[in-house]
Amino acid sequence: MEEYFTECEINRNLVHCNKKVKGTREMIDLRSDTITKPTEEMRKAAYEAQVGDDVYGEDPTVNLLEEKASEILGKESALFVTSGTQGNQIAVLTHCRPGNEILLEAESHIFYYESGAVAALAGVQTRTIKGVNGVMSPSHIEAAIRVEDQHFPETGLICIENTHNRAGGAVIPSSNMKEIYAMAQRYSIPVHVDGARLFNAAASAGCSIKEFTQHCDTVQICLSKGLGAPVGSIIAGPEEFIKKARKWRKRLGGGLRQVGIIAAPALVALTKMTERLAEDHENANFLAEILKNHDGLEIVNSVDTNIVVLNVSGLCMNADEFVERLKAKGVLAVTFGTTLVRLTTHYDVNRKDMEKVGSIIAEIVKGKRH
Ligand SMILES: *Cc1c(COP(=O)(O)O)cnc(C)c1O
Repeated sequence: MEEYFTECEINRNLVHCNKKVKGTREMIDLRSDTITKPTEEMRKAAYEAQVGDDVYGEDPTVNLLEEKASEILGKESALFVTSGTQGNQIAVLTHCRPGNEILLEAESHIFYYESGAVAALAGVQTRTIKGVNGVMSPSHIEAAIRVEDQHFPETGLICIENTHNRAGGAVIPSSNMKEIYAMAQRYSIPVHVDGARLFNAAASAGCSIKEFTQHCDTVQICLSKGLGAPVGSIIAGPEEFIKKARKWRKRLGGGLRQVGIIAAPALVALTKMTERLAEDHENANFLAEILKNHDGLEIVNSVDTNIVVLNVSGLCMNADEFVERLKAKGVLAVTFGTTLVRLTTHYDVNRKDMEKVGSIIAEIVKGKRH
C-alpha cells in the first residue's frame, strides 16, 4: 500500500530528510548485517579522501587504514582486501602449500560458504572438526594433526571462526582460542582466525578485540558487515606474512589503485562503529525475548550477538514458507536449513522495527497454530 513518508523513512541513509514523497516503506531487512548502507560520515569521507596508487604504496588513506588496523588488532602489519572471502583465501594461500591439510570447524564459513575456494585456489584438503556451538575442543584438533608419514598430508593450518556464523553468531571464548593456540604452537602449526564478526565477539564479551587476536597468528575482519563500510576486509599478522599476502592479493587481482575512496569509509567503520555493535546485540536479544514465548517457535542459538536463529518446524511449515510469509508482511529473512530461519540485526534497524517484527511473527504463528 502506498502512503506518504519522508524520504528518510524510506531510505534512512538519505542526507536530506524533510521532503515528503509518495512511496512504499522500505522492508525491514534482517537478511544480514552486510546490507547496511554507508553512513553520511562514510560517504563524506569517501568524497574527501586523499588518494594515490595503492599498488605503488602511495595511497595515504589506505596506508592509514592498514596502520590503524594493525594497531587495533595488535599485529605487526595489516592488509586491506576486497572481501572477507578474499582475506580468508589469501590467508590459506599464504600459510599453506598445495597438498597440505587444514583443520577447521565442520560448519565454518571457509568450509561451507566459500565455493570450495581452498581446494580450487590453494590446493589444500580440508579436515573438519565438529564443534559445539562453533567451539572446537583442543583435544579433537590435536588428535587430527598429522604425524610425519609418507602417506599423510602435512597439517598446514588451523582455522577458528569467531563469532561463528552458522552457530548463530556464537562467541568462541578467548580461553578456548588460547588453548588451541598454545597447542598449535607446540606443533608449529599456524592459527588463522576468520573474525568476520570478531568485533561482535569483543562487544559481547565486553573486552578489547586484542583479548582474542593475541591467540592467533593471523586474523581476518570484515568492515562491511555490522561495521557498515560499503566494501572491505582486513587481514593482519606478522610483517613477513603480510608481505607474502600482498603478493597473493596481487595474483588474485586484488591490487587496487585509488583505493582510498573505499578505505576512507572503511576507516570510519573501523574507528567509529565498533562501539555501537552492542546496540545490535540488544536488539537481537529484545527480539528473541519477544519470540521465545510463542508456541511452535524455538530459538535454537544462544543469541550472543546480532543473530537470532528460529526453528519453525513446530508451526508445521518449512523455512522457505516462513520466509515467504515474512516477506509478504514486509520483513526479509534468510533460511538457514530446512526448518531454520536466520534474523540478523544491524545499524539500519532499530528497536521499533524489532517490535514490528515481533508482532508480524505473532500474526504468522497465530494463523498457523493448530
Ligand atoms: C561474511 C563472512 C565471511 C565472508 O565475507 P565476505 O565479505 O562476504 O566475503 C567470512 N567468514 C564469516 C564467518 C562470515 O560471516
